[in-house]
Amino acid sequence: MGDSPDDDLPPWETGEDEEEAQKQPSAAELEAAGQSALFGDPAPAPLAEAAPAPAPAVVAAAPTSPAPAPQAANQPYRVLARKYRSQTFSELIGQDAMVQTLANAIKRQRLAHAFLMTGIRGVGKTSTARLIAKALNCVGPDGHGGPTIDPCGVCEPCRAIAEGRHIDVIEMDAASHTGIDDVREIIEAVRYASVSARYKMYIIDEAHMLSKQAWNGLLKTLEEPPPHVKFIFATTEVDKVPVTVLSRCQRFDLRRIPAELLHQHFAHVCALEGVAIDEDALAMIAAAAEGSARDGLSILDQAIAHADMESDGTATHVTARKVREMLGLADKGAQRALFDCLLSANPQGLLAAVEDQFSLGVEPLALMRGAMELTHRIAVAQLGEGATQGASEEERLAIAGWAQRLSAGQVHRLWQLLLKGHDEVRTAPDPLVAAQMALLRVMHAADMPDPGKLEKLLKDAAERGLAAAPQVTAPAAGSTVTATGATTPSMPSPDIEWTILCDRVEQEGMLRVGQIMRDHVRIIELRHGHLRYTTPPAFRDDIMADLKEALLRATGERWDVAKGAGEGAPSLTEREEMAAAAEAERVRSHPLVRAALDAFPGAEIVDENQLADGRKAWSRRA
Ligand SMILES: [Zn+2]
Repeated sequence: MGDSPDDDLPPWETGEDEEEAQKQPSAAELEAAGQSALFGDPAPAPLAEAAPAPAPAVVAAAPTSPAPAPQAANQPYRVLARKYRSQTFSELIGQDAMVQTLANAIKRQRLAHAFLMTGIRGVGKTSTARLIAKALNCVGPDGHGGPTIDPCGVCEPCRAIAEGRHIDVIEMDAASHTGIDDVREIIEAVRYASVSARYKMYIIDEAHMLSKQAWNGLLKTLEEPPPHVKFIFATTEVDKVPVTVLSRCQRFDLRRIPAELLHQHFAHVCALEGVAIDEDALAMIAAAAEGSARDGLSILDQAIAHADMESDGTATHVTARKVREMLGLADKGAQRALFDCLLSANPQGLLAAVEDQFSLGVEPLALMRGAMELTHRIAVAQLGEGATQGASEEERLAIAGWAQRLSAGQVHRLWQLLLKGHDEVRTAPDPLVAAQMALLRVMHAADMPDPGKLEKLLKDAAERGLAAAPQVTAPAAGSTVTATGATTPSMPSPDIEWTILCDRVEQEGMLRVGQIMRDHVRIIELRHGHLRYTTPPAFRDDIMADLKEALLRATGERWDVAKGAGEGAPSLTEREEMAAAAEAERVRSHPLVRAALDAFPGAEIVDENQLADGRKAWSRRA
């Protein structure tokens, strides 16, 4: 490089700037605004030809003013991202830690020979690189100043760098200059002293794109750089930069810019541009920018262009509606109203809210995403974190209210249901209908305690019920079994327990008879050595002989056994079944469970602990 006669522009930049004369920015131009390897502003010469009467005070020519003046009407359009590129470190938003480190390094004269700027795109890496170039080369207004974190902006080096015409500050876009040949030019040029600046600076953007050979070529120079040379690498993918290079660089990680700062910044830019903008519109743009000032300014550019087209010649006004349309977003207020319907079991309101949003052009999928985003913010708010950063006052209040009202379990359940709904909407032939159905289902379930809590409530209820109910599995001698309040004839004072007899019979190996005794023998009278019984009408086997034999073996005595007249007490098994049915009914009639069954028609209550602890008492057959 440097062979070109047009020497004050880097070779890859020449001829690019004529496009800027267009009034409206093209998408490519917006994109190019920050990615372009050009310093600051276009060189003045081509502009003078393009614009008949350019205002002399171009923003970059007066970088000391923190608030660039709105451009004159007859000036060529400059995209906001380029126009409002930070010209001082104090204008660089969201990077305080990095600026502080850099300031310390300059103050202590402990500057590395090479810097590495990392961070997501549009976060200010190349802006920072240029600011470092200024900081190191500024000579101050009187021409005697040294390196400073606060470059004056008026000295010749400052102005030349800001205007992108400083001969000793060379910027290379590694994305288009990846090879060893491009690097070789640098290596050659490094040997010569700078022309006028204190330091000869090489800014290599998208450094991760350099080839392995290119890095190897650079390595020698990075190991022993001439004292007058500084390298600044900027990259989004620091893990692709060789470790040998990393170890020779002072690294600065640029942070994603918080939405709140972007919001303020964009408000500031709008004020300078004389553009009125809704607060909600600013918030949407700040959120959509995802931490990148450049991306946010590009969106703002488009929003202003849209607003201009619609305006009747009066002042430009960017409305929230327009931005929402542009970004395909749901209105936050409408979103909250919809969410509120979800949680307050208001199906009419819910369906109306969905219809409204849909007719405004909001995609059903975006509705689901909006509800999920709110759920996420509620969950974060419950942890006391800054979930409401960048939110409007109404949103802050609403989220805080929900965070208090809902249990953590409910929020997670809500998330699960919405996630499921989201997937359904995505694949459904009619996304609107799918969204309505999914949201209705969420609404019905939203009132419910979460499954864990429900289970615990049911268990507690069951345990209370069991403690209060008579012993059903092992009725004590003489006790009256009254499951479900059904009248049961009392057993006339047996002096021996039937369950114990059943156990003994089984222990003697007469399992079949034992089972019959439990299942089918209804006792009319039971005393030691004396049994009067009956069986259910459906049970026709004659078991008298079996019973006599079994009782003889179990007790060692002959029994007086006879089938008697009358109903008899229910068999042991019948009592267990009655008790279980009663408990199931009791559980079923619990208001909570009734709510659950109403919400999920056809649902069944299943005792998950049945197998674990063998308790049969409740809910098995519900
Ligand atoms: Zn200066």
